[in-house]
Amino acid sequence: MSYLMDFDKELYWYIEDEAKRQENEIELIASENYVSEGVLEAAWSILTNKYSEWYPWKRYYAWQVNIDKIETLAIERAKEVFWAEYVNVQPLSGSPANLAVYLAVLSPWDTVLWMSLDQWWHLSHGHPLNFSWLLYNIIWYTLDKETEIIDMDEVEKLAIENKPKMIIAWFSAYSRNLDWKRFREIADKVWAVLMADISHIAWLIAWWALENPVPYCDIVTTTTHKTLRWPRWAIIMSKEEFWPKIARAVFPGVQWWPHENLIAAKAIAFKEALLPEFKIYSRQVIDNARLLAKELQDHWFRIISWWTDNHLMLVDVFWSFGVTWKEAEIALENVWISCNKNMIPYDDRKPLDPSGIRLGTPAITTRWMKENEIKIIAKIIFEAVKNKDDENILKWLKSEIQWLCEKFPIYNK
Ligand SMILES: *Cc1c(COP(=O)(O)O)cnc(C)c1O
Repeated sequence: MSYLMDFDKELYWYIEDEAKRQENEIELIASENYVSEGVLEAAWSILTNKYSEWYPWKRYYAWQVNIDKIETLAIERAKEVFWAEYVNVQPLSGSPANLAVYLAVLSPWDTVLWMSLDQWWHLSHGHPLNFSWLLYNIIWYTLDKETEIIDMDEVEKLAIENKPKMIIAWFSAYSRNLDWKRFREIADKVWAVLMADISHIAWLIAWWALENPVPYCDIVTTTTHKTLRWPRWAIIMSKEEFWPKIARAVFPGVQWWPHENLIAAKAIAFKEALLPEFKIYSRQVIDNARLLAKELQDHWFRIISWWTDNHLMLVDVFWSFGVTWKEAEIALENVWISCNKNMIPYDDRKPLDPSGIRLGTPAITTRWMKENEIKIIAKIIFEAVKNKDDENILKWLKSEIQWLCEKFPIYNK
């Protein structure tokens, strides 16, 4: 960043400080990860200079030949990674991608069946302040209160009673597998469109560490910056019959020009996803999450839904130790571990002050932390929460974390 260092020292140092923070903390926010240097190079490239509305080989502006090749490359690679029939790589982010799908499939006041928000659906699916709540008739399905697992019989019952136009599967804090086959059967029974939002587990699916819902669903959206450690962006995959409507809904339905520099970054990322080492990575993410869940259980933390099948877990810190998420988060921040607050199912506490924290292993696995480190991290989480008011202990725990981070650098290898 030599230009920046000369021209704008203030900004330069802000970015440098953030880089240092990222190197020195243990990142357990389940939706964050580190992109490769290839992705950084493409994302910064001169492609940002070009306007390119509409789709490859059918554009409005002149001189698209290079852009068309790049976008086609991204599309073809994405199809190969996910076994998708059609892929739209233009959505600017996960929320606009979901918005485009609703616009393509639904009319105002149509009935949609999706997962209850207080049970960890994403805000872009039916939050009262989101347009989806204002426009559509939303029916929720929930988790079984005892097992904290999605109750597929309830999904079926609600579908038969309400005849939704679309059924949506997925969440941002559920740690168990979904029964894709059953979702398909239910959708077929009531002639509903089946949509999945796999933002959180896309990478694990790309490598078949989790079952791939793309063959079961009519439409699948995913962000590309969570377990997929790629640029901030999203894609929409669909069966052939939905493709023209989705194409129009993305442009000009919800957005204008695509950011071709980020589409190029995505093309690199999809190429990375096809390398065998990432298969090892995705299995390791899950192994690490399962071990972390078990170690935390051994330290008396309650894990929601009892277990994890994927990369994340929800921890009921209030039940476990009588501390609120805020106290837990601050204790962890003091030792340089980051996590985020989350409602737990049937939470008695308020959305802004819930009982749980969400933890995930994609980022620490990108640093190639494994069994030994996971055990150390679990113990530090326990000690930090237990000794949240003891400055000396927190200081000592922080030095342990710094030592771990230095041993497993992100970029400063
Ligand atoms: C993160 C997330 C989104 C939103 O993605 P943005 O790129 O932040 O807009 C949508 N759906 C789910 C399930 C998510 O986890």
